[in-house]
Amino acid sequence: MKLGRLKFVALVSGCILLVVLIIALIRKDQGLDKKISDNKYNIVEKELLKIEPISGKKASEIKTEYDITNKTFIVYLEDVKNLFREEQVDYGSPMVASINYEKNKNKVKVNVKLKEYCTYSSEIKDNVLYVHFEEINNKEEKLIIIDPGHGGYDVGAENGMIYEKDINLSIANYVCDILVKQGYIPILTRNEDVFVSVEDRADFVNNTMPKLFISIHCNDNADSSAEGTEVLYNIKDTESEYNSKWLSEIMLDNIISSTGTRKRDLLVGNSIHIVRSSKVPVALLELGFMSNEGDLALLNSNQGQKRFAQGIADGIIEAMTEMENKNE
Ligand SMILES: [Zn+2]
Repeated sequence: MKLGRLKFVALVSGCILLVVLIIALIRKDQGLDKKISDNKYNIVEKELLKIEPISGKKASEIKTEYDITNKTFIVYLEDVKNLFREEQVDYGSPMVASINYEKNKNKVKVNVKLKEYCTYSSEIKDNVLYVHFEEINNKEEKLIIIDPGHGGYDVGAENGMIYEKDINLSIANYVCDILVKQGYIPILTRNEDVFVSVEDRADFVNNTMPKLFISIHCNDNADSSAEGTEVLYNIKDTESEYNSKWLSEIMLDNIISSTGTRKRDLLVGNSIHIVRSSKVPVALLELGFMSNEGDLALLNSNQGQKRFAQGIADGIIEAMTEMENKNE
């Protein structure tokens, strides 16, 4: 009897202990949930995407890629083993439409799909990567889209190990640097060495409606004596006096005076998708021939690229100034 009572007491105590433990666990879970949602709340306010590296990793080593025309921001998390938790990537940005994960062994590729065309900026604080997205304001008076031709597996023209895609991007970046200092808002169709289809480039332009659209390319010819700069325009753009041909002429003159390349012609570029489908004044620049020794030396050197960039920026500023003066 005594033993039976002891058993009963032990059983009741055991049950109470179990209930207390369960409650504690539930509360702990709630605590965790609350913490995550609190984080989300903070992030909503800041319109951020937040990426926490796993322990022992540095946020500065997280590799990201931005495909602006596809509205996709990609985060590569490497060597994650089993440590990856989806909570490591958190967002409250109203610009984020969805996030999906592609797991492959120790790597996770996080695809962040955005609702609108955005620019982004990122910063690292306390070993956490924060990414801020901002919708591109298509009423912006100073918006200019610069398109570095080709990218990724599409290398463009080539001469040995020198690829057109790299020259285009490098010059485009220099152009942006100059324009930003002058108060313009230049946006690139690609910031990195990624493939972007011509359809996506054109859609991006037609949805964001910049004041001007400048596409940067280098030329190529079987005859290595062919040299100089030419610009392609949209012959069907005739509604305004500030049209594609008007812009192309300004661009050609400015590039020639900055670089001293041989002046070739203005050409009808309507066989090219981005030229014929652009709803804003477009100029497709063929800066020089990669197949020509003199042109290539200029295209493939820092100094030469800066001179091309200066000519392009001068042309953009001249065109913008003309349009702005007319509007006054
Ligand atoms: Zn090209």
